[in-house]
Amino acid sequence: MAATAIPIDTLPSINPATGEVAAHFEKTPPAVLPEMVSRARAAHASWATCSVRGRCEKLRNLRQRILVSRNELADAVVRESGKPRVEALFADIFVALDSAAFWSKNAAGALRSRRIPHHSTAAKAKGGYLIYEPLGVIAIISSWNYPLAIPLSQIIPAIAAGNAVVCKTSDFTPQCGALIEKLFLDAGFPKDLVIVVQGGAEVGQALIDASPDKVLFTGSVATGRRVAEACAKKLIPSVLELGGKDAMIVLADAGLEVASGAAVWGSYTNCGQVCLSVERLFVEESVAEKFTTLCVEKTKKLRLGPGNDPSTDVGPLIRPQHVRRMSDLLQDALARGAKVSCGGNPRPDLGPNFFEPTVITGVDSSMKLFQEETFGPILAIQAVRDAEEAISRANDSPFALAASVWTGDKKRGEAIARRLRAGAVMVNDAISYFGIAEAPHGGCGASGWGRTHGEAGLLELVQMKYIDVDRLPGREKPWWFRYGVDLERAADAFLQFEFSSGIAAKLRNARSALKTMFRDHGL
Ligand code: NAD
Repeated sequence: MAATAIPIDTLPSINPATGEVAAHFEKTPPAVLPEMVSRARAAHASWATCSVRGRCEKLRNLRQRILVSRNELADAVVRESGKPRVEALFADIFVALDSAAFWSKNAAGALRSRRIPHHSTAAKAKGGYLIYEPLGVIAIISSWNYPLAIPLSQIIPAIAAGNAVVCKTSDFTPQCGALIEKLFLDAGFPKDLVIVVQGGAEVGQALIDASPDKVLFTGSVATGRRVAEACAKKLIPSVLELGGKDAMIVLADAGLEVASGAAVWGSYTNCGQVCLSVERLFVEESVAEKFTTLCVEKTKKLRLGPGNDPSTDVGPLIRPQHVRRMSDLLQDALARGAKVSCGGNPRPDLGPNFFEPTVITGVDSSMKLFQEETFGPILAIQAVRDAEEAISRANDSPFALAASVWTGDKKRGEAIARRLRAGAVMVNDAISYFGIAEAPHGGCGASGWGRTHGEAGLLELVQMKYIDVDRLPGREKPWWFRYGVDLERAADAFLQFEFSSGIAAKLRNARSALKTMFRDHGL
């Protein structure tokens, strides 16, 4: 690859299908990050005074800009991430458009102030409500695998909530990063409201060091740990969207034709480089052979090729080290008794980063293929006795991002979904919930913390403020000074009045309890 000839202050935009460098993009010097964050902070100050409806108006312009530019955007996604163009349109462009459409309609409702009724007699004389204020400057640090969908579906709610954003897109996808910044300027957003910075780890670190008000990080577990440490040192809150090792459970009563189609798509879409990929497949023993045969038949029919060829089903991996990793994972599994049913080889004849879609059976939890995130086109199948074994194996992982259950019995599917340790479980579908704007996304354990998308994701981007207004401003509160035996008795009576279960005890204590309201404080 020509990467060695690249000047150090630029980032190459490399086509993973060919290894060719299409363009160079200027790296942001880490030293200017404090200035970038200050500029975003200044833009935030006036943006936050704009009404939510005014902000949503601009989001409608953005949606229009994305729609008009969809071809240019899809081309950039295909060129830098390698995925087939259909996937660029269905995943990256769709998610970006839908996020703009959804928040332009729903941000005002979601951010409306909310009355908080008080249940306690002690607080009845007060009216309370919640308001949601922007946090300030949100730092977004992103992965390369959905170079538009992920950053845009985080930036859009962040600015809808009144924040400014400094976004570090991945160093593998600098052209997509540059296009994101341009989209916001073209849509008429104020200058510096959305700043994209370019670079690798050093720019990401400098962004956190520049003290943004929150960090939304999407990437690997190893980097997530470093980001969490850097944020902790500065007490900056974070959302971490990290890796996944999603289980797919196929029960014997599932429609095997459809479930095998899902397994194949869920394992190989974006060449398996999806945090929500089907990485561990558990199928009930009684149908395992038939199901595996269907998966193998479907896999063999897939066409491997560059993303800009409309007949391509599966594109390349992102870089040569990812190809080597697939071979290592397979070797480890084969040495421990697994069997490759189809695929299993790099395809240097097609380009530097191609690897055949692979079905492997007899995989178990002793193998790296079931322990570590694969992030490549390998469908790893384990036959299990029954649903109980599937559930316990699925839950036996440090990752807990998402999962899916396949069955003809929806009620049973939902019951199993409740028992799986994951941030989201789909019954009879996989991955696609990421494209539902209302659905919160995120996991726990090694998959990170916090949420993006949906109302839960929006609430990560605001300061929730409780405002309380006293209805009796002319009165001193009963619990204020001065104390004494009488007040102690009255306090005890109040507790019995408020918390006794019998009506008699309540009535017995009501008088003394209420007396405190009108006592003379004597100060
Ligand atoms: P990565 O961890 O290598 O990089 C992610 C981002 O962090 C990049 O922009 C990178 O430049 C930056 N970075 C690297 N070191 C940093 C540091 N020390 N401080 C700050 N920033 C730093 O991940 P990747 O290879 O780009 O993405 C693949 C990973 O992302 C996979 O593990 C995948 O599962 C995960 N992912 C998760 C989700 C999710 O929503 N949970 C979505 C997509 C990808």
